[in-house]
Amino acid sequence: MTESKNPLLDLSDLIDYAAVKPEHVAEAVRFWRERLEAALARATAAETPATWEAVVEPLENAVLDFSRAWGAVGHLQSVVDTPALRDAYNAALPVVTDCFIRLSQDEALFAKYRAIEASPDFKSLSAVRQRIVKREIRDFVLSGAALPEAKRERVKAIGQALSQASQKFSENLLDATNAFELVVTDKAKLAGIPEETLALYEASAKAAGKEGWRITLQFPSYLPAMKYCNDRGIREALYRAFSTRAAEFDGGRFDNTPLMTEILKLRREEASLLGFPNFAALSLATKMAVSPEAVLEFLRDLAKRSKPKAEADVREVNEFARSELGLDKVEPWDRPYASEKLRESRFSYSDAEVKRYFTEPTVFAGLFKLVETLFGIEIVPAEASLWHPDVKFFEVRRDGQKIANFYADLYAREGKRSGAWMDGERTRTIRDGRLVTPVAYLVCNFAAPVNGKPATLTHDEVTTLFHEFGHTLHHLLTAQTEAGVSGINGVEWDAVETPSQFLENFAWDRDVVKSISCHVETGETLPDELFDKMLAAKNFLAGAACVRQVEFALFDMLLHTTFDPEKDVVRALLADVRREVAVVFPPDYDRFPQSFAHIFAGGYAAGYYSYKWSEVLSCDCFEAFEETGIRNPETGRRFLTEILERGSSRDAMENFVAFRGRKPRIDALLRLTGIVSDEKEA
Ligand code: ZN
Repeated sequence: MTESKNPLLDLSDLIDYAAVKPEHVAEAVRFWRERLEAALARATAAETPATWEAVVEPLENAVLDFSRAWGAVGHLQSVVDTPALRDAYNAALPVVTDCFIRLSQDEALFAKYRAIEASPDFKSLSAVRQRIVKREIRDFVLSGAALPEAKRERVKAIGQALSQASQKFSENLLDATNAFELVVTDKAKLAGIPEETLALYEASAKAAGKEGWRITLQFPSYLPAMKYCNDRGIREALYRAFSTRAAEFDGGRFDNTPLMTEILKLRREEASLLGFPNFAALSLATKMAVSPEAVLEFLRDLAKRSKPKAEADVREVNEFARSELGLDKVEPWDRPYASEKLRESRFSYSDAEVKRYFTEPTVFAGLFKLVETLFGIEIVPAEASLWHPDVKFFEVRRDGQKIANFYADLYAREGKRSGAWMDGERTRTIRDGRLVTPVAYLVCNFAAPVNGKPATLTHDEVTTLFHEFGHTLHHLLTAQTEAGVSGINGVEWDAVETPSQFLENFAWDRDVVKSISCHVETGETLPDELFDKMLAAKNFLAGAACVRQVEFALFDMLLHTTFDPEKDVVRALLADVRREVAVVFPPDYDRFPQSFAHIFAGGYAAGYYSYKWSEVLSCDCFEAFEETGIRNPETGRRFLTEILERGSSRDAMENFVAFRGRKPRIDALLRLTGIVSDEKEA
């Protein structure tokens, strides 16, 4: 019997995803780790000259391969999780983490980099290569390479422990989300919920072998029930389940509480070992913002400017709920429902009505047309081996030449992590004298098509798609060929959202909306009258939404500066933050931090503020398009060449100034999000 080939060992071109099995993971990790370790041994050997060609380049190639193979495993674990794959992933995780941490702390390699920087030839390297060497040295220092051995070992152990704690945090959250279902057998109890959503619930029940309608805590299932279900009891039950996920209730099977304290303690210790006053200061050492104080000042300023609008928003919903819905006290599980009813009454349209216009094939065709015009590219469907039959694959071309590819995995399903994201699959670089084109994963969680009709997207989902597509273009349209600065590699965290948030604004342009809409029944484009209402509603309750984001960001920043995990209580800090900036207050049982995966399991620790920070940049960039015409190809090409193509070959601030001709201003953000009145609109 011949063993099937391991697709994770063949990285010569696209990965054969359909053939990847859990048992391939361990072998692939062993193989690429050995390659990397051999490359490291060669790079750090005494006789190896301290040059770019002898040290940086071969090692970088080995890192790229290992990261790509492991990235593919992590991706599959996120989108088609099975117990066997999860086991294989978890078994390999400590090995992989250990390998990369050792690489980042290798004394001999650190010495080689310093020797490269000190060599007379350093000045003859290209500016980009000099930048990469300097940044490597900075990162060595930040990962403990300059510390005495005992401390260095401790930093390494902390890295391992943090990686495992974060993985466990995500698993708990996914398991807690999947553990809940509400099966309703009396259709009358679901009155108010649109037919499409009911069909989704029915299909979900059927798939689970049950009668009736099955509602879960996955977002496309949960949110419509909260917005439309007339039955207050159902909304309350769902709200309680959602806001207590991964906490001590329900026997604490998936309780993230101890993990949060553990993670915070480890981060604090790590920062202290590296000579920083707190974890936030360590986090900001590689970011665009200059200090935690600057971030706190930015957030508090934004809170102050947006709170009056937020308070007015809440008053409006409360008054409407009292007079029109007979709700004397608006509970948290009433708020999305009452807000939707107010929106319908004020703007006389519903999200569900709008959703029928955004059919997936048309949305994609229109989005592609837009970016084709702006950036001089062409996007066409292509063939590849896929991990799930629903996944689509595309090729990006310029002047008829392939420049990139991406996978689009769009629909929610069990075993797939919730949310939407982009990940680099392969980085644009030059290998053995040949150009390697970049590849990306575009992942969303839209409700899948049912009953043979195309999937339809809410306008929020359309905006999410534009957002993630902005990230995708940032990765794919790079002009860089040095991996360290190519695509989104090395881009400051608090600037990396600029292209994504920038592209979101186009989902609000009348022309663009026409080109991405086609009614699921009639084929009509979205009528002007309906779009006018949407525009009028665009910043509906935007003040409340803004202070909510500031609440999360401020909580995150304080958690990683003044908070002491040895004696302070996470919930108490959140309560303080809410008292300072919030306008609505959840019940006591709320355990939001236990599902705040961004900062406990993602890369946003002491970095959540970056959403708003880069929104300042993205709104300001979009304003340049408003000034020159929204589809202006010249402005598009400048955005392409000054920002998208640059990767991290320059500081984000330099990119911005080169595009805009000046430093960023907060005004466009406040105007475009409706915090201050819109003087520009006629
Ligand atoms: Zn994003």
